[in-house]
Amino acid sequence: MNHFANPDRLLIVDDERITAEFLRDIASNLGFSVRIADSFERFCEAPEGFNPTAVLLDLQMPGRDGIEFLKVLAKQKSEAKVIVASGMDNRTISTAHQLGMVLGLDMAAALQKPISVQTLRQELRKVMQGSQPLTAASLAEAIEAGDIQPYFQPKVTRDKNGGWTCTEVEALARWHQADGSVVLPVNFIDLAENNGLLKPLTDSMLEQVVIQLATWNARGCKLRAAVNISPSLLGDCAFPDELEWLLKRHKVDNNQLILEVTENVVIAYTSATIEVLSRLRVKDFGLAIDDFGTGYSSLEQLYRMPFDEIKIDRSFIKRYQSNKDIRTIIEAIIMLGQKLGMTVCAEGVETQAAFEFLESTGCDKQQGYLIGKPVPAEELSTVICKDVSEYRSARAIL
Ligand code: C2E
Ligand code: CA
Ligand code: CA
Repeated sequence: MNHFANPDRLLIVDDERITAEFLRDIASNLGFSVRIADSFERFCEAPEGFNPTAVLLDLQMPGRDGIEFLKVLAKQKSEAKVIVASGMDNRTISTAHQLGMVLGLDMAAALQKPISVQTLRQELRKVMQGSQPLTAASLAEAIEAGDIQPYFQPKVTRDKNGGWTCTEVEALARWHQADGSVVLPVNFIDLAENNGLLKPLTDSMLEQVVIQLATWNARGCKLRAAVNISPSLLGDCAFPDELEWLLKRHKVDNNQLILEVTENVVIAYTSATIEVLSRLRVKDFGLAIDDFGTGYSSLEQLYRMPFDEIKIDRSFIKRYQSNKDIRTIIEAIIMLGQKLGMTVCAEGVETQAAFEFLESTGCDKQQGYLIGKPVPAEELSTVICKDVSEYRSARAIL
C-alpha cells in the first residue's frame, strides 16, 4: 500500500517495542498506515511526507514527559487527531489532554492503560477519515441482517433485607460493523429517526431481547429487561397487542419487559399515546420514564401517565457531589416518585460514593459503570457486581 496515499496515517509514539507492535497490528487491521516512533528524536524527525492524520501518544517516554511531545506537535501545527494513553492516574492523563487542547491540538481521546482491544478499536475508528460514512441505506441493511444487537447493562434493585440484587438489565443497541468495530447509538439513532427506520430498529431490538429473556428463563434465571422505545411506536394502537403476541410466542411474562420512554417526548403525548401507554400497563408491561429531569414533563403529566418507574438522568448523578442543590433535587425526585407509587432508578452511577449517597436517599434501583457496563449477553455474568459490594446477583446462573 502506498502509505502517503492512505487517508489514515497513524504515528504510534511508544518506547516499548512489543506494545507499539501490538498497537500497530490493530491499527493496520483497521486500515491505517502506521509508523512507530520509539524515542523523542525519532518523533521529532517523523518521516518526511508521512504527515500523520492521527497520533497515539504514550505519555511516559524515558527522559521526557508527554507534554514535550504535545508541544512539538503544536509547533509543527499538526492537524492530527491525538489520542493520549498512559498507565498514570486518570487525573494526570486528563490534565495532559486539556493541555493539548490549550495548545490548539485536536485531542481525540485520553485513555488509561491497560486499554482493551475493543476500546482501542473504537477510538481508532473514530479518528479514521477514510472510513465509510454511515448512511440510511447501510443502516436499513444492518437492521435487516441483524447487525444491530442489544448489549445488556445490569441494574441493581434494593431487596427486602436492604441488600442489592441484580434482577434487571437495560438493552442498548450496538451496530456491529464488518471490521469488528462497534458503533454506538449516538451515531445512528438520529439517522434512524430521520429515515423512518426507528420502527424496524425497535422491533428488531424487542424481538432479540425477548428471545434472550426466554433463553435466561430456560436456565432458571428470570430477569427483567428494559428496551428504549421510539416515541412513534406510542402512537400506534396495534403496538400493545403485537408486543403481547411476541412475548406469548416466546413464553416470556409481560412484566419481564420494561419499556423506557424518554422524558423529552412526554410533552407530545396525544390521546392515542395515552391509550397505548394505558393498555401496555394494563397488560402488565413495565413503563419507565427515562432521562427524568432533562425534559419538560409537568407534575400533572407525571401523575396522569401510567408510569411505574422514574429514571433520574445521569447528568444529575454526575454533579451530585459538587452541588448541594443537585442533591436536594435528587432527593425530591425520589420522594415524589415513591409517593406516587413508582420505583426510582438512578442512572450513571460511577463511583462508590455516589452509590452510597443514593443508597442513603432510599433510591430503589441503581445503574451505571460502577455496577457494570453494557456488554453482550454472554458476557453479562462477568460484569455484574464485580467489586462494589456483595450483591446477590444473577451471576451464578447466567
Ligand atoms: P439511555 O437510555 O439513557 O441509556 C443509558 C446510556 O448511558 C447508555 O449509552 C449507557 O452506555 C450509558 N451509561 C450507562 N452507565 C453509565 C455511566 O455510569 N456513566 C456514563 N457516562 N454513561 C453510562 P448508549 O448505549 O451509548 O446509549 C445512548 C442512548 O441511545 C440511550 O440513552 C438511548 O436513549 C439511546 N438508545 C440506545 N439503544 C436504543 C434503542 O434500542 N432504541 C432507541 N430508540 N434508543 C436507544
Ligand atoms: Ca434508557
Ligand atoms: Ca437514560
